[in-house]
Formats: sequence, C-alpha cells, structure tokens
Amino acid sequence: MGRKSKLNINTGIQSRIISNFGIVILLLVTIIEITLIIGITNYYYGGVEQILRDRITVSSDFLNSYSNYSSVDTKARLFFETSSNTYNNSFLVQFIDLNKNLVLDSNGFSENVEINTVDVNAALENKPMIYRGKNSANQENIMAVSRPLIRYGNIDGAIRFIVSLEKIEKEMQKLISFSIIIGLIFIGIFILISAFVSNTIVKPIKKLNEVAEEFAKGNFKAKAEKIYNDEVGVLADTMNFMADEIKNTDKIKNDFISSISHELRTPLTSIKGWSETLQYYEQVKKDSDIALGLSIISTESERLQNMVEELLDFSRFQSNRMKMKKKPIDVKKVITQIYKQFSNKRSSISLMCNLTGEDTCIYADSDRLKQVYINLVSNAIKFTPDGGSIELSAVGYEDKIVTSVKDTGIGIKQDEIPKITQKFYKLSSSIQGNGLGLSIVDEIVRLHDAKMEIVSEEGKGSEFIITFPAYKEDTKGEELIDKNINLDEKND
Ligand code: ADP
Repeated sequence: MGRKSKLNINTGIQSRIISNFGIVILLLVTIIEITLIIGITNYYYGGVEQILRDRITVSSDFLNSYSNYSSVDTKARLFFETSSNTYNNSFLVQFIDLNKNLVLDSNGFSENVEINTVDVNAALENKPMIYRGKNSANQENIMAVSRPLIRYGNIDGAIRFIVSLEKIEKEMQKLISFSIIIGLIFIGIFILISAFVSNTIVKPIKKLNEVAEEFAKGNFKAKAEKIYNDEVGVLADTMNFMADEIKNTDKIKNDFISSISHELRTPLTSIKGWSETLQYYEQVKKDSDIALGLSIISTESERLQNMVEELLDFSRFQSNRMKMKKKPIDVKKVITQIYKQFSNKRSSISLMCNLTGEDTCIYADSDRLKQVYINLVSNAIKFTPDGGSIELSAVGYEDKIVTSVKDTGIGIKQDEIPKITQKFYKLSSSIQGNGLGLSIVDEIVRLHDAKMEIVSEEGKGSEFIITFPAYKEDTKGEELIDKNINLDEKND
C-alpha cells in the first residue's frame, strides 16, 4: 500500500517562507542602503560644497570691494596677508589670471602653470560652478570652486578654493561599509527569525504527517501531538479523535467477528462429528446418495471450520491477543511434516522437498509455523494447474534460514503482489476463501522476526520465500533441546 511520493515539508513551506520574505527584506534593505548611501554622499559633499561656496563668496566679495583697482597679484598678496592661517590648512587657495595661469597660491607657488578646469573657465565667464574630480598634479580627489576677480568693473582673473576629498571620502566609506554591515546583519537575523518562525509551523505539520503515515499503516495507537493551540493543534485533536473513532469501530468489528466465530465453532464441530459418525451406519453405507451427501457435509463443514479458525486468528492478531509459544525447533522437520501431509493431496501435481544446510534451527512456535506452511502449500496447490509442480525447500546458513514454497502455477501480477498480504484481499471474488490466509501468514512471520518475500510471474508461477534469523543458544538463553525435534517427529 506504500505511498509513491513523499512530501518534503521542510523544503516546501519553510523554504517558501524564508525565500518569499527574504526577497521582500532584501529589497527593503537594498532600498534603505541606496537611500542611505545617497544621503551620506549628499550630506558630506553638500556640506563641503556649502563651506567652499560660503568661504569663496566672502573672500571674493571682500577682494572685489576693498581692492577693486588692484591686479590679481596684489589681491592675492592682500588675501594671504589678511587671512594667513585661516585657510592654509584646510583649503588650497589659488589666484589665476585671465590667461588661466596661476599667479599665486596658498602654498606660496607662483609658477606659470595653466589651470584650465571647468570651474575656472566658468568663473572667468562669471558663471559660478563647482568642480569635482582628480587633481591633475597628484591624482587626488578634489572639490574646487572659482569666483571671478573684478578690476575696474571687468573680470581680471579668478580666485579658486580647492579642498581634498580624501579624508571625507574615507569617512564616507567607513559609514557606508558600516551601514552595509548593519544591513547584512539585519538580513541574517531576519533569516534566523523566519527559519525559527517557519519551524514552529513546519515542525508540528511534520509530526502530524508522521502520525498520519502511522495511521495509514493501521497503527492507530500513534498519537498526534498538540504543540500549539492553533489551527495545526486543532488538526492534531481532530486526527486523534478520528483515530479513536476508527479504533472503536475496529474493536466493535473484531468483537463481532470473534463472538460469531466462537458461536459457529460448536455447531460446526457437531455437524462435522455427526456427519462422520453417520457415515459408518450400515443403512447409510447401503445408500450411496446419503453417503455422498454426508461426505460433502463433512468436507464442507471442515472448510467452514478452517475459515472460522482463520477469522478467530485474525481477530486475535487485530487485538494483539495472539501469544506465541516459542522454542528452538528445526525448520527442516516442520517442512518434512508438511511435505508428508500434502504429498498425496493432489496426484496431478508433483510435490518435492529439498532440504540443505547443516543447521536449520529457529526460535519459533511450531504450531504457528506449520500453519504458515499449510497455508502456503494449500495456496500453491489451489493455484497450480494439473501437471505442475510445487517445491518446498529449507536452506540453513550461518546467521539465517531461508525457506521457500515455489509453484509453477498461475502466478500473480506484479502490481498485485504487495496487495495479496492485505486483510480480506482476493484477486477475484470467484476464488474460494476469505482472503485472510496470507495476511495471517505475514503476521506470524513478523512475530518471528522473519521476512517474507513474494517473487511471482504471471503464467509462470510464484515463490514465497521466508527468511528466519538462525537460532543461537546464547542469544535466547535457552539450550537447543533435540527433544523438541524428536517430539515433533513423533507427532508425524
Ligand atoms: P485465502 O485465505 O482466501 O486463501 P490468501 O490470503 O491466502 O487468501 O490469498 C490471497 C490471494 O492471493 C488469493 O486469492 C490468490 O489470488 C493469491 N494467491 C495466493 N497464493 C497464490 C499462489 N501460490 N499463486 C497464485 N496466486 C496466489
């Protein structure tokens, strides 16, 4: 009945929650980071720009009004004399003539160097402009602003304030890196929190799924755990309620089967007993019709008895009332008995027995073991056409005993094989029997810690292989008494 696909809740809901919310948070953090970076840049560059503008406006206004008639060179000297230390450290101040040549700067240079930058060109055309770029001399990032110097009402040159951006950019980089780290930590914390939150959803569902699988296998003792008092918790309660209801119905059904079977046992024994007794009466022997009728009553009541016994076994298994009386036994002896019991059952089929291996002792309930092989051989006989053969075998290995019942019968379709050990399962309703035989066999095999494998091909035959663990004296703490085996032999 196994399920074909297994749902992996962990990679489903959990990864969906983390990835969906993760994308939202990632977008949000990216937007915040970009806004922050733009804000930081604008704040720093804007601040420097504002200071530069204010300073140059004050300086150029002062020079243009107080030294209106002097040359650029005189204005420069006047400027550096009056504001010797104020600007020297933070700004480089340059005085440039109309030919864009440097007249004097705050470092004291007065070499004839051409300064042809956009801000200077703009200042000479009386258009104020800010320049941000590389200093051609040392490739340093700088910001520069120039203003025209007026002589007799005309532009005579320009004053230029330059500031290095290295320190500010380092400062900005530190802030930006810090904000990115904070963003990454935020994303990390979010992933952890969403993994935790999704786990609180997924974990109870996973547990419910495990319990539902147990229910599907027929184990209604499993209990769904209510972890939280939420929708999943309510589902756990409903599942437990459902299991209790099924257990109740199952119990009623088992009790019914058990009591009916018990009730049927006594009259069936009487019918069978009397039909056999009556067959010995002289009058009956003389009348062949009555004799035939009585023999039919006898075989049919035996068949009914077997069915009733199967039903009783079934109800015992269902309510765990089946007790195994285990002892060390030689499986070869059991198979030999079955072989003898069935060798004359159907002359049109050849029954063979193949026993190999030294040690074939197992720890088992011999009656139940016989029941297993009787069932398998009866089925083999039932489903093998005339001229076919059935082979019983047992092979002893060091740690296991492998037994098999193999026939050359009608075989079973591949997709039917797993179903035939289910309760009440029959391939066709026209087949005699209640479909319980193999499910009881399977239960008995399980209670012996053994495994049953069914190999079958339609039209070719079937093989039922049962592998038992080998009996080891020390593991069971009981000695292997050959007496048991001899006793079994006497029972033949
Ligand atoms: P029942 O107790 O009624 O005999 P089983 O549980 O023993 O039922 O068998 C269930 C079904 O498995 C049968 O109805 C039959 O279709 C199939 N089956 C069992 N043994 C064999 C076999 N040796 N060859 C072919 N089909 C088999």
